[in-house]
Amino acid sequence: MRTHKDILRTEMTPPQALEILKEGNLRFLNNIRINRDLLKLVDEHTESQAPFAAILGCSDSRVPVEIVFDQGLGDLFVVRLAGNIASINAIGSLEFSCKLLGSKIIVVLGHTSCGAVKAACDKTYLGNLETLVKSIEPAVHDESVAHLKRDSNDKDFLKKVTILNIRHQINTIYHESEILREMVEKGQIILVGALYDVNSGEVQFLDPMD
Ligand SMILES: [Zn+2]
Repeated sequence: MRTHKDILRTEMTPPQALEILKEGNLRFLNNIRINRDLLKLVDEHTESQAPFAAILGCSDSRVPVEIVFDQGLGDLFVVRLAGNIASINAIGSLEFSCKLLGSKIIVVLGHTSCGAVKAACDKTYLGNLETLVKSIEPAVHDESVAHLKRDSNDKDFLKKVTILNIRHQINTIYHESEILREMVEKGQIILVGALYDVNSGEVQFLDPMD
């Protein structure tokens, strides 16, 4: 079984990092886990960290990032906010992971049945969540196919908005971060979207044109 330990972090390429995440999700789907000595990993990371991937995911309890990608301690730099929102603080965290810690890939990981995306579809505002929900609304506006039922009860509409939101957050990262944009343009990192299916546990990486 190939793991990232077989590839030196400093020599890992962005496509290899993507492949390792795909393989990890495949293990998860097959109920196979790498047997890690977590306390040994604690010892190995006392002085430093070099996570190979940075993930911007949702806070949803059904999408624990290390578990669904079968990764261990020190592997992933994870930012989680409801709706996988690329807030300025989230972008700063991703810059830290890629520029200073050497992560090779950023994944914006949305998921099906996302409560934050549903709230944006339904214009449900609650306290401080309003700002967050409004960050998802451009994706609702961009969904141009559904004309009749435009609420979260329409599963097709909800999924389309979820994917558009992933793309919107990717664009926000790209345009708001000069550091990350330059790293993407130089081929030092890749910036990809992915959708986690809460029914199956599968992570589907999005093609640029999906
Ligand atoms: Zn969610």
